[in-house]
Amino acid sequence: MITSFNPATDEVLAQFEPHQDSQIEQRLAAAQRAQKAWAALGVEARRPHLLKLAQTLRANKERYARIITLEMGKPLAEAVGEVEKCAWNFEYYAEQGPAFLADYPMVSAATDSRLVYDPLGLVLAVMPWNYPFWQVMRAAAPILISGNAIVLKHASNVPQCALAMEELFREAGVPEGLFTALLVGGSEVDRLIADDRIAAVTFTGSTPVGRSIASAAGRALKKQVLELGGSDPFVVLADADVEAAAAVAVKARFSNTGQSCISAKRFIVEHAVADRFRDAFVEGTRKLVTGDPLQAASTMGSMARRQLREELHVQVQATIAQGAKLLMGGRAIEGPGAFYEPTILDQVSPQMTAAREETFGPAAAILRVGSAEEAIAVANDTPFGLGASLWSRDLDRARRLSRLVDAGAVFINGMVASDPRLPFGGTKQSGYGRELAHLGLHEFTNIKTVWTGPVRT
Ligand code: NAP
Repeated sequence: MITSFNPATDEVLAQFEPHQDSQIEQRLAAAQRAQKAWAALGVEARRPHLLKLAQTLRANKERYARIITLEMGKPLAEAVGEVEKCAWNFEYYAEQGPAFLADYPMVSAATDSRLVYDPLGLVLAVMPWNYPFWQVMRAAAPILISGNAIVLKHASNVPQCALAMEELFREAGVPEGLFTALLVGGSEVDRLIADDRIAAVTFTGSTPVGRSIASAAGRALKKQVLELGGSDPFVVLADADVEAAAAVAVKARFSNTGQSCISAKRFIVEHAVADRFRDAFVEGTRKLVTGDPLQAASTMGSMARRQLREELHVQVQATIAQGAKLLMGGRAIEGPGAFYEPTILDQVSPQMTAAREETFGPAAAILRVGSAEEAIAVANDTPFGLGASLWSRDLDRARRLSRLVDAGAVFINGMVASDPRLPFGGTKQSGYGRELAHLGLHEFTNIKTVWTGPVRT
């Protein structure tokens, strides 16, 4: 059974039978038929469908947000923001799709040479629970506008979100079969990747599972985009606006209850401003209100599963045992639900657990360094390379330093965030390929060279 479970109350919300082989077969066949008709439509005819999806999302944002909150525990206001962002993404690709998919002229010896962007077919999306709508829609909008169809294997703890998105497509009047949710476990994924009807795979999730998906896609020789884990550095240099950095640090670490791949996880601060940063960061974090995510007053909800809370607690305890200083939090909150106190650790060194491993929950690690050069070295001392935040008043220097950071994105004087207009993705163990903007769209197209010679009369 696939169980929908409220992590804030420990209640079972619903249970679903996983799809059987015959249902999977029937759904893949329908998806393939739908994709062929969709590809033949052309981009202009696809645009209104994306706009209708955006409209339907906006019109029902509270309803969808409630499902998100019930299944994974984030505060309702954050869930509403997530649904609105999905709508924006569809609007963005409806607007930009024709330009991104327009033929691209190339200079060569031919009479005419150009690139054209053809759809690949069915794209399998294997997705995580932490932004259960956004992760899926972030991938779906560019995949669909390019003439592909999407087959979703969502995380097993958010089945109601998966079904709600399928229903959204129906409500918006998008041709049946272009968005198909399969209720199956992770063990089915290799078989799906090997299926001839699946042309490519996009995966967002942990690095170990990414490795397994990459090898299955490699065996089947199928295109893949991998968005994996992160341990993003948040570097505060001595000339930074420390109070502004600390205020943003609270959001960068604790929104979504710290369960984001691009949450700032390691706060790397120059000695000269470290005490000031620490005090302001602690003060801002103390203002968070942890509680029932359906209540407007709560600014931090529960973690998505008790087991994730256990894993975070083990990392916090290990880091304290290794010599870090606990400034606040560090405990599970008793009672029902997977609540954990917002936690800040100081005097963390690069060898300690919280600096070495991805901490996927509300726990921040402060690492003190002696110079900007050391800050960059510590920032890069990780297997991950997703995002990085860099704070300094000297923008030229900050941009120079940004080139030395091993990450898919560096945000100067701001927190790392995804934005439909900007490519998103990682390097090192954080994955490869890009989502969003034109690069994300082109990932799931066949970039075809069309060479035309002269017509001899
Ligand atoms: P996860 O355990 O890797 O699960 C992600 C998806 O993979 C789920 O749908 C899961 O299905 C499926 N899966 C699990 N085992 C599998 C296997 N052996 N083969 C194929 N598929 C399998 O990750 P998570 O715990 O849901 O999410 C947290 C992780 O995602 C963190 O590491 C975070 O950094 C990363 N993340 C990255 C990004 C990014 O954009 N880079 C964004 C968000 C999250 P089941 O639920 O059925 O097991």
